[in-house]
Amino acid sequence: MDILASLPEADLDDFAATAADEAGARCARLLGDAGLRPTRHRLALGKMLLLGPHRHVTAESLYEEALAANLRLSLATVYNTLNQFTEAGLLRRIAADGIKSFFDTDTSVHPHFYLEDEDVLVDLAGGLPFSKVPDALPGHEIARLDVIVHLRRKRS
Ligand SMILES: [Zn+2]
Repeated sequence: MDILASLPEADLDDFAATAADEAGARCARLLGDAGLRPTRHRLALGKMLLLGPHRHVTAESLYEEALAANLRLSLATVYNTLNQFTEAGLLRRIAADGIKSFFDTDTSVHPHFYLEDEDVLVDLAGGLPFSKVPDALPGHEIARLDVIVHLRRKRS
């Protein structure tokens, strides 16, 4: 028997809402596991960031995306949420040009290209381009190695 055909119209709406909110439920689980309460803003931005393929965003670029998706939230809210996600270990912050931070949904340590003209951060495929890492100072150990290779367009 076709279950959808047998449901009155109101239940069909509920069914659609439940199916569409499967992403919301997955996102709420991710947030909960990271120790964050799934507020409306966290869920909305989390669905945009945490469920798809890995990517790099800035607060501004995510804000633009949220506006385009008709989400009503401020740039400050986007920034705060990105910082909360970062503190909870869901994102990794990468400072490329000293002013602006990128947020990487891939929290593993990996090298990047920064395209200065486009103001875009992309993963550097193939791992670290160095065969030797410097020794740490006495009494210290290397915590992690951040590599950002800055690229600019060739002048023709
Ligand atoms: Zn990355």
